[in-house]
Amino acid sequence: MTLKTAEQYEESLRKLNLKVYLQGELVKNPVDHPIIRPSMNSVKMTYELAQDPEYKDLMTATSHLTNQTVNRFCHLHQSTDDLVKKVKMQRLLGQKTAACFQRCVGMDAINAVDSVTFEMDQKLGTDYHKRFTKFLLQMQEEDWTVDGAMTDPKGDRSLSPSKQVDPDLFVHIVEKREDGIVVCGAKAHQTGAINSHMILVMPTIAMVKEDADYAVSFAAPADADGVLYIYGRQSCDTRKLEDSDIDVGNKQFGGHEALMVFDHVFIPWESVFMCGEYEFSGLLVERFAGYHRQSYGGCKVGVGDVLIGATALAAEYNGAAKASHVKDKLIEMMHLNETLYACGIACSGEGHKTASGNYIIDLLLANVCKQNVTRFPYEIARLAEDIAGGLMVTMPSEKDLKSLEIGRLVEKYFRGVNSVPTEYRLRILRLIENITLGTAAVGYRTESMHGAGSPQAQRIMIARQGNMEQKKELAKRIAGIPQK
Ligand code: SF4
Ligand code: FE
Repeated sequence: MTLKTAEQYEESLRKLNLKVYLQGELVKNPVDHPIIRPSMNSVKMTYELAQDPEYKDLMTATSHLTNQTVNRFCHLHQSTDDLVKKVKMQRLLGQKTAACFQRCVGMDAINAVDSVTFEMDQKLGTDYHKRFTKFLLQMQEEDWTVDGAMTDPKGDRSLSPSKQVDPDLFVHIVEKREDGIVVCGAKAHQTGAINSHMILVMPTIAMVKEDADYAVSFAAPADADGVLYIYGRQSCDTRKLEDSDIDVGNKQFGGHEALMVFDHVFIPWESVFMCGEYEFSGLLVERFAGYHRQSYGGCKVGVGDVLIGATALAAEYNGAAKASHVKDKLIEMMHLNETLYACGIACSGEGHKTASGNYIIDLLLANVCKQNVTRFPYEIARLAEDIAGGLMVTMPSEKDLKSLEIGRLVEKYFRGVNSVPTEYRLRILRLIENITLGTAAVGYRTESMHGAGSPQAQRIMIARQGNMEQKKELAKRIAGIPQK
């Protein structure tokens, strides 16, 4: 099988034996848990759309290993066209879910691990790439959702991994055996971890010789012995327990992050893709981060499309759609959103082939893309709140609207234009609240800041990739100053 249906995906998750804690309790059935399920629905959409002939071109690709049709999330980019389609697919999924659909981290991880293992083998004579290709083949065959796990808890940021008081603050090798390695530690903020079949671990920073035990990359089943998850809280998450339809803002979809803990997890050699080669850990981080910074030029734009649409509707329902400043603010929102997209497309179009044969984005433009993402969604959200009005955060609950006693008062006093039912107005405001302040704000706001690396990380890359010396030479030439 190379393409799972949405139902097969859900069933395959039920077969996993994940150890998930949520609000202090072990969750028996994550798939049906009301707080988790909307995030599963978002990943499910990546399977559903791959079956739809309308989206086949974006959602699927031809495997360079087997020539079979595979989900694009399991594909190694074979051209700049593939890179562009990736961004378009992410925008589409953002539009369909208005949430983080989580599966991108695995796609970005396989593309980074592929080229880095290849180059590592070339330089050091190791055989990681062969092992990784075997894993990839299985991933494509099984249509796995893979959690690309990079971010360690990191403890004291002024200390390197091996200097931390607690050695587990970075994932590390505690034992090397004849048949494999044993690892301990944790990965934080793991997007989609509970909805994944497999974990693909990568180191989180560039390392030096003393950190060699921390330079480790491997694949493991999401329910491997010794792996447990602690589910991350989101703003307004318990509204999902109220069986609410309106108040949740987005009833069907969501995203999630979790702390993933490795307590003496055994990894057989065939699943180990880096084991002590510290000089390659920085390269792996740079490539994964680069791909994920490209990703945000797609997913955030898709969610932005929904937010802009919701804001325009809120203006209409308020009777303010014709005001010139409202029109102008909506134009500004579109301008910002399309600027994010432009960078996502540009870094893809300017991509190039790596030594292993897959394609990588232009790193400078991908970092500019993500740097914009740390700002523009905030401005788009600010404008959405401006147009939506204060009612977005002061309006009564769905239960009040439906109350036999006071429902008519909510109905009467929160009506905007008379042609639109009050309920529609409340629904659209709750959706804006969800994206800007509620559960989806994790993905649209704070993750825009810190996901794929905090703003300063992009500025370091922009400084490195920006070629300042060439710019100075250009200026000298024009100004008539002798060249070097
Ligand atoms: Fe994909 Fe965006 Fe979620 Fe990252 S934040 S996993 S790129 S949807
Ligand atoms: Fe992310």
